[in-house]
Amino acid sequence: MKINLNNFEKFETRHNSVSGAQLSEMLKVVKADSLDQLIEETIPQNIRLKKRLNLPEAKTEFDFLKEFKALAVKNKLFKSYIGLGYHNCITPNVIVRNILENPGWYTAYTPYQAEIAQGRLEMLLNFQTLISDLTGMEIANASLLDEGTAAAEAMSMFRATRKKDKKTANKFFVADTCLPQTIDILKTRCEPIGVELEVGDYTTLALTDENLFGVLLQYPEVNGEVVDYTDLISKAHDNNVKVAVAADILSLTLLTPPGEMGADAVVGTTQRLGVPMGYGGPHAAYFATKDEFKRLIPGRIIGVSKDAEGNTAYRMALQTREQHIKRERATSNICTAQVLLAVISAAYAVYHGPEGLKNIGLRVHGLSKLLADSLSKAGLSLENKVFFDTLTIAVQSSENQQKVKEEALAQEINFRYIGDSQIGIALDETTTVADVAQIVAIFEKALGLNTQVDVATLAENIELAIPQTIARKSDYLSHPSFHKYRTEHELLRYLKRLENKDLSLVHSMISLGSCTMKLNATTEMIPITWPEFGQLHPFVPVDQAEGYAELFKNFENFLCEITGFDAVSLQPNSGAQGEYAGLMTIRDFFKAQGQAHRNVALIPSSAHGTNPASAIMAGMKVVIVKCDEHGNIDVTDLKEKAEQHQENLAALLVTYPSTHGVFEEAIMEICKITHDNGGRVYMDGANLNAQVGLTNPGFIGADVCHLNLHKTFCIPHGGGGPGMGPIGVTKELAPYLPNHPVVDINGGASSAVSAAPWGSASILGISYAYIAMMGTEGLENATKTAILNANYLKEQLSKHFPILYTGKNNRCAHEMIVDCREFKKHGVEVEDIAKRLMDYGYHAPTVSFPVPGTLMIEPTESESKEELDRFCDTLISIRKEIQEVIDGKADAQNNVLKNAPHTATMATTGEWDYPYSIEQAVYPLAFVKERKFWPSVRRVDNAYGDRNLVCSCLPVEEYIEEEEVTQ
Ligand SMILES: *Cc1c(COP(=O)(O)O)cnc(C)c1O
Repeated sequence: MKINLNNFEKFETRHNSVSGAQLSEMLKVVKADSLDQLIEETIPQNIRLKKRLNLPEAKTEFDFLKEFKALAVKNKLFKSYIGLGYHNCITPNVIVRNILENPGWYTAYTPYQAEIAQGRLEMLLNFQTLISDLTGMEIANASLLDEGTAAAEAMSMFRATRKKDKKTANKFFVADTCLPQTIDILKTRCEPIGVELEVGDYTTLALTDENLFGVLLQYPEVNGEVVDYTDLISKAHDNNVKVAVAADILSLTLLTPPGEMGADAVVGTTQRLGVPMGYGGPHAAYFATKDEFKRLIPGRIIGVSKDAEGNTAYRMALQTREQHIKRERATSNICTAQVLLAVISAAYAVYHGPEGLKNIGLRVHGLSKLLADSLSKAGLSLENKVFFDTLTIAVQSSENQQKVKEEALAQEINFRYIGDSQIGIALDETTTVADVAQIVAIFEKALGLNTQVDVATLAENIELAIPQTIARKSDYLSHPSFHKYRTEHELLRYLKRLENKDLSLVHSMISLGSCTMKLNATTEMIPITWPEFGQLHPFVPVDQAEGYAELFKNFENFLCEITGFDAVSLQPNSGAQGEYAGLMTIRDFFKAQGQAHRNVALIPSSAHGTNPASAIMAGMKVVIVKCDEHGNIDVTDLKEKAEQHQENLAALLVTYPSTHGVFEEAIMEICKITHDNGGRVYMDGANLNAQVGLTNPGFIGADVCHLNLHKTFCIPHGGGGPGMGPIGVTKELAPYLPNHPVVDINGGASSAVSAAPWGSASILGISYAYIAMMGTEGLENATKTAILNANYLKEQLSKHFPILYTGKNNRCAHEMIVDCREFKKHGVEVEDIAKRLMDYGYHAPTVSFPVPGTLMIEPTESESKEELDRFCDTLISIRKEIQEVIDGKADAQNNVLKNAPHTATMATTGEWDYPYSIEQAVYPLAFVKERKFWPSVRRVDNAYGDRNLVCSCLPVEEYIEEEEVTQ
């Protein structure tokens, strides 16, 4: 027997799940002779690439990890005391293994289907409780993207809540003691919406300024000083000015929370609560405010409601706030946020409890006091009067500063160098007495001080330094969640119990149209927990991050090759942030061209809600373009509107293939019409999974495009984040990509859109791995297989359901819309179908977007024929159940659809008095028995929860009362 040793097993065969005999069977079903014929009938000829992508040869999983490790170790792991919103911390290993490295948690989708998401909803409620308790506020959301954008959201919320005498007030003040990246993001966000931003000294701020509507302060300040803002906030309120405070979450374990000082909003990051710095992210930002602003809170809010039996159940609350509904009236575009990171921080707080958190706070503060005392003994002078964990040390001259810097670098330590004669040092959870001794010794040695301070002896007896006037007196985290799981066994089992309530990709396919829930391969995830990627502070000198630099360079090249663009920005932390960044790039370009007046954005009616919301944030005027009866952009209407707004046209926002799952034939003409009228084309790249390797935005004629790396490029959804939304642009737009105030990334003049220079840098490796292991052919096959799988489902389902739109040859792209509106006449809502799917072990497809009353199904290339067939059988079986209702054979209200989902409790406790069998309810098809997933609650009552809004765990007394009642 002979074998060819040049053939090796390709990763592609693990990711793309159809080949060989199955492929032929599926092609037969879709009536195509070959995969290529199917593709030719699906993608318009004029947009097909003329040559193949030129990507490096595909690597095996084994080789990839070996080579990636060699790249990773080029990052130098110096100890960083830089602070500025990023701190070393310790992720408890029980959390690393059971959440961060666990697909049961990280492959889940955003918890829109509450009944099969109770686990992460409960942990997010813990997160909200943690935040509202520590900040002293009434209500908190379930995370935003980073501290800087959270501060910008506070500005935006204050602007939206201006009352009577402040209706036209237009100035927002940011204290110059705020973090530099936060100030820069505010610059970006204020300018397009016409808000005047003043950066300055808050002690001389004229609060009586009639034009002033809001203020942002930092707590503790950037240089570590802790200031009591109570009087300032009270004077601001006297003048009808609202105040947001960006607060260090750990400091609030010891300091009076801003809520008790009267703040209207408190924002920040929970990074230091157990989430690695990751060279910038991802981490969860928090946003807490007063109850009166609840309808204007950005991002997702988890609330308590009840299920059909009256049991407590959680779900996302007040969804009408979100841009999906508000569209061009939205004030925020947050979609994907940071759920997995919020879950990790919440678990960290659950594990440590209030005493544990306080001890961490005390220790960090104590070490800082030790450092302060030691440095004073060494004769150095401190700039701080009151501090938590950050000190500013005056070294008198730039020569001294330089000497300390050289010695610190020689000992592989990073401090923060401020101006030309100060040094900033922020301590953290990982700091030890030995570290403090080392810091002191560095100063002594560098400055030739002969003091030899005995740090170890001083450490035995440290007098804490937080004055009573600002020390925290109120309790926090009294809820049982923060007390019951303090041993590893208890936490381990709590995490597993929660995980078991949630349906994720470890159970079955999640066919969410537009969200591309494909395989998140284990090998892609492995480097996430490598310290070489996880433990870098985003502001270390770039020569310590050469591994990252190489990763970025290669990855940007990959993305340029795939998109057909000339330059890429890796800064935006989500697709929606990419939209915003892209539109701002267009805006800055026009400004530089002397065409600042161009401000009209044409947006098709089928666009995702984030498109109009982002356009508004970028200061644009939204003009809606109609779609025709085939779901395509109405080219005549587009032409008319483009010509009508010719003078001021800035951009067209177009999703391709369309949100209707069709490759519109006219796309090149659509781009041309936009260009002919002076505008630029923004392509929403959420559907790039149908393009990669076969066509691309640059070739089609777009000028900018974002890539949802958590859709097309395998970053797991994390239960609602993290994600990444880098943008690609043409040459003319490249100079206007976002830059960063602390780390100059491109020499450009544009301000930042995210807090970190390269966004959530540490998860870029996932997408990098995917591209490196798939190579040109693997990626092409992924696209083709995604299209095949969608057309296969379409063919099978079209015998039972109307399919809403298709292309010229009756082909769909990588997703399709199943029309369920007919059933409404008979009382069956699309929601009933979504809930009934749970009884079969499936997550619903996208419900009611982009067309109300429909299901948008996207199978992706990673689902096998067997899985697609089970899903089809399920929908066909549900269709039969609907027919029973239509035919009057089943009761219109009391039926399997209306009562879905069915829980184990229903099936096993008490009388079964439904007009159908238990078996029909819970094992409707044979395959379900072996794969049964039990929804943990019955259908959740959304309206009840919104009427009785509760967004944190109930206080402990109420729980005890409740328990007494039930006993
Ligand atoms: C997912 C999606 C977005 C938003 O992306 P996020 O990463 O969630 O911010 C925008 N447009 C379309 C069509 C999408 O599917």
